[in-house]
Amino acid sequence: MAEQLVIVGSGPAGLTAAIYAARANLHPLVLEGMAPGGQLTQTPEIENFPGFESPIPGRTLVETMRKQAERLGVRFLADEVLSCDFSSKPKQLTLMLSGETLESEAVILATGASARWLGLPSERRLKGRGVSSCATCDGAFFKGKRVAVIGGGDTALTDALYLATLASEVTVIHRRDAFRASAALADRVLGNPSIKVIWDSVPEEFLGEKRVEGIRIRNVKTNEMRDLPLEGIFVAIGHTPNTAAFKGQVEIDEQGYIVTDRTRTSVPGVFAAGDVQDRVYKQAVVAAGSGCMAALEAQAYLQHL
Ligand code: NDP
Repeated sequence: MAEQLVIVGSGPAGLTAAIYAARANLHPLVLEGMAPGGQLTQTPEIENFPGFESPIPGRTLVETMRKQAERLGVRFLADEVLSCDFSSKPKQLTLMLSGETLESEAVILATGASARWLGLPSERRLKGRGVSSCATCDGAFFKGKRVAVIGGGDTALTDALYLATLASEVTVIHRRDAFRASAALADRVLGNPSIKVIWDSVPEEFLGEKRVEGIRIRNVKTNEMRDLPLEGIFVAIGHTPNTAAFKGQVEIDEQGYIVTDRTRTSVPGVFAAGDVQDRVYKQAVVAAGSGCMAALEAQAYLQHL
């Protein structure tokens, strides 16, 4: 039997859409994907999501949203979309999962984004052997060790502050001489005696054969190279939207984001919310807001077609 509304993704966008859709009696099914909760689960601490007086772990925030959705009757399936066919008749959208094929009258795409890598061969070789993109997941392995964080955005600085509570020494390596991150985070990093910042520098090579033993960096202004001995490297240089399964089915821009008008995509009945279509804000609260919009627009679509 065809579903009325399938929501692909279980971060703040997908879960908020599910909460609104359930309350509108659309009986949504959420495909949780292989990494339920999305990027929020990898953020150690969130202090800018309204409604929480004190900082809250990202994982707790998203787990609470999921429980709220469950209480309202949302159904969850631990599967992901491998490909889709949106070309048949309106209201017959086909999603191919690893375990089955689903038909749905409307779909909300909320698959978020994934961590970007530098692309160095040595980075690939040492992934999981001291190289990570998730401080929350892997930070505990570096208790009392020396680590570097690559990047100058909110993720890099949040990771650096978290790692400073575990590692013996944290070095932030940033390619410019000013952070992209918010001033509040920048002030905390610059005021933390366990964190050192190396400006205007990029990684040239991750050192070590079987495990990370150091990093070779180049100063982009002087071209001077230097090696830093350390045991862990956290790459935090931004994210790429997760759209591989939707290529050729909905319009995607040159940077890989799904093109939306409000939350409507190029295909009637297919909506997109959260980081998969947000090239500007990329905040959990904005993702949640756009999930709400997508659910309301899907509801109107289903009522009027
Ligand atoms: P951003 O795109 O904001 O930052 C990426 C950082 O990596 C930038 O400093 C960038 O440098 C640097 N970078 C990019 N490519 C390279 C490269 N090839 N080599 C070296 N450095 C590189 O991504 P984030 O993941 O930090 O943040 C994404 C979004 O999520 C943001 O909107 C952020 O506000 C939000 N966020 C919010 C949090 C919170 O509020 N607690 C926590 C985490 C994320 P440059 O500055 O020169 O471009």
